[in-house]
Amino acid sequence: MARTPGGKTPPQSGKRLPSSPRAVKQRLESLAEAGVLDLPRVKPGMAAAEAEPMVRHEVGPTPTVTKGPASVGSPRVAASPIRGGFPHGDAPGGPIARLDVLRVEVAACTACSHLAAARTNTVFGSGNPAARLCFLGEAPGADEDASGEPFVGRAGQLLTKIIEACTLTREQVYILNVLKCRPPDNRRPEPEEVANCRGFFERQIEAIAPEFICCLGASAAQSLLRTDETIGKLRGRWFEHGAATVICTYHPSYLLRNPAAKRDVWDDMQRLMGRMGIDLPAKGPGG
Ligand code: URA
Repeated sequence: MARTPGGKTPPQSGKRLPSSPRAVKQRLESLAEAGVLDLPRVKPGMAAAEAEPMVRHEVGPTPTVTKGPASVGSPRVAASPIRGGFPHGDAPGGPIARLDVLRVEVAACTACSHLAAARTNTVFGSGNPAARLCFLGEAPGADEDASGEPFVGRAGQLLTKIIEACTLTREQVYILNVLKCRPPDNRRPEPEEVANCRGFFERQIEAIAPEFICCLGASAAQSLLRTDETIGKLRGRWFEHGAATVICTYHPSYLLRNPAAKRDVWDDMQRLMGRMGIDLPAKGPGG
């Protein structure tokens, strides 16, 4: 059984389903806030990934879809969102050790002297170093600067709901930003700031070695994929970054201003979960 670095056994396939009608109502309200207005009916034995071809950005290996037993007639076992974990602790030079080294480097960084002078905290990233999925955001805002944790403000709360709608928890994924310091007035990162932070977020991703990266918004997507294409053009396609398969979707802050776009993000999440082999709940009560 996989264990987290702290020795706890992670949930293997997401959250338990709510049992009481009140809990069901609360769960549906939370899903609706995350943009989930209808729930998919999952056909037993079939991952959405099986039905969907990959649009290649650059030629590379077809992403792995972890599936249950292949034998005909046996039910599919939903894939875990976490790799095997570290049952005997992190190996020397393993992801936890590498992330610890990076965290110290980030905390001491003054490459963008204007950002370093204004920050309360650097915001390194949080989550599971054995996560199969990383969410990459743009840069810390005021709440993140104050707490040192990524995505804890209003946009972060919406991201948490989106993650939970995918039957996952923040502890089962890894959340990081392109920039580790808050830009003034939450403006978009400047190219030079992205260049200064590139070594950090690239090495962070290398240490975690996720199978999937979900870029939140244009800034994250353009920085990671080194492209000028708009988020509208980047959505709906699969990309590769090293060994990771990349999907791009709207930033939760954009969803706060444009709630109608939550449906598009939910479409993206369904495609992502399908490719990861993670089952989403079948249609809830009331159809
Ligand atoms: N927006 C981001 O891109 N990252 C955060 O951590 C918070 C808001």
